[in-house]
Amino acid sequence: MPKPVLAIVGRPNVGKSTIFNRIVGERVAIVEDLPGVTRDRIYSSGEWLNREFNLIDTGGIEIGDEPFLEQMREQAELAIKEADVIVFIVNGREGVTSADEEVAKILFRSKKPIVLGVNKIDNPDMQEQLYEFYSLGMGDPIGVSGAHGIGLGDLLDEVVSHFPNEEEDDYDQDTIRISLIGRPNVGKSSLVNAMLGEERVIVSNIPGTTRDAIDTPFTKDGQEYVLIDTAGMRKRGKVYESTEKYSVLRALKAIERSDVVLVVINAEEGIIEQDKKIAGYAHEAGRAVVIVVNKWDTLEKDDKTMQKFEQKIRDHFLFLSYAPILFVSAKTKQRLQHVLPKVEQVSENHNLRVPTNVLNDLVMDAVAMNPTPTDKGRRLKINYVTQVAVSPPTFVFFVNDPELMHFSYERFLENRLRDTFEFEGTPIKIIARKKNE
Ligand code: GDP
Ligand code: GDP
Repeated sequence: MPKPVLAIVGRPNVGKSTIFNRIVGERVAIVEDLPGVTRDRIYSSGEWLNREFNLIDTGGIEIGDEPFLEQMREQAELAIKEADVIVFIVNGREGVTSADEEVAKILFRSKKPIVLGVNKIDNPDMQEQLYEFYSLGMGDPIGVSGAHGIGLGDLLDEVVSHFPNEEEDDYDQDTIRISLIGRPNVGKSSLVNAMLGEERVIVSNIPGTTRDAIDTPFTKDGQEYVLIDTAGMRKRGKVYESTEKYSVLRALKAIERSDVVLVVINAEEGIIEQDKKIAGYAHEAGRAVVIVVNKWDTLEKDDKTMQKFEQKIRDHFLFLSYAPILFVSAKTKQRLQHVLPKVEQVSENHNLRVPTNVLNDLVMDAVAMNPTPTDKGRRLKINYVTQVAVSPPTFVFFVNDPELMHFSYERFLENRLRDTFEFEGTPIKIIARKKNE
């Protein structure tokens, strides 16, 4: 597999070249730039934690007489097109500028992993300058000093963590990765076959690569999907014995590689303890979840059967209260046509980004409605809220004392978020952090 590519973007003078040179360990030859000619990207290689990667010198496209924002846009677009991970460098001494916000907007659209490095944090007591960069909505800013070589290890740790898995997975960012998990015999193979047999589903088969042997990429209505770890599921019988022991490790790995996990339950048998455990993995991994109750054809039904079954699921899977439930039959194909649209929708919710101002308005209203808790005479004070990540949506609440954020109040805030925005199918993370003044 090709080496992952890293790009460094940011305004002029924030310290990109300095950091670039640190990362490649001064091994880059100085490339003579013929004015107006050499607009080609320059690759250098770097290595961290035994992962080799290529670094694009996007600085090479800073051409003198183009308007500043145009240059930034070109730089960002090159990074988006070429890189697996983008490092966005800002200047910790200047704070967030409107140009930073412009670049952030362009970068967001890419859906590529972005690591935010705040440069020129030359000594530890400058750490608090980091906080205002949360407002860029790019997750935890990492303080670095290119000039002094501080913090670059943390930055690279984060970068490497976003590299595509070495063994597999170089699907496009827009591809929705789906895995089906559940006990043996619940009908996972049958569901896979039935879904792939649906109208307008086009299964792409590029033989010869390992990844296709375990995953099944397909397209429906212009949306690309891949079924993760379908090895054996598509061919039934000897290859995949339904009595095969359910491999927890294999399921965990599939979950980790997925955007959306279909938790499959057998309607005929009802819910058993093991189902809960399996579903718990998906929840803890922060994946979007759809509960699929299969073999719905086997039940004698009246007008309350579905409602009762749903209640049973809700009672057993308290932690998955956000997950939609579909009642289907792989055998009769009943309601199978709803599975992919639901997957597409929860995947969208999993990637939903709430603008910071809307978020803060909502939270202030919520606090007015239901005052924050107190403990020993001290009241929780929420200063500022920002969404720091998607998949799953993650919100950082800057507060006077994180200890005062009780579970029940966190629940209340989560519910307010869910009432206001479309978060069906996705877990939400709420993190309370102390506001450093
Ligand atoms: P770029 O062209 O935007 O990538 O920025 P450069 O790497 O050329 O750096 C711009 C200026 O910032 C130079 O004068 C650097 O010496 C200075 N600089 C770079 N990194 C740091 C740092 O970590 N701390 C301080 N104080 N200055 C830095
Ligand atoms: P897996 O072990 O989870 O992959 O389950 P399989 O897909 O191998 O299915 C196990 C058994 O259940 C097979 O005999 C299937 O024919 C049967 N089965 C799967 N889906 C349905 C369904 O929707 N209705 C009925 N009645 N049987 C099903």
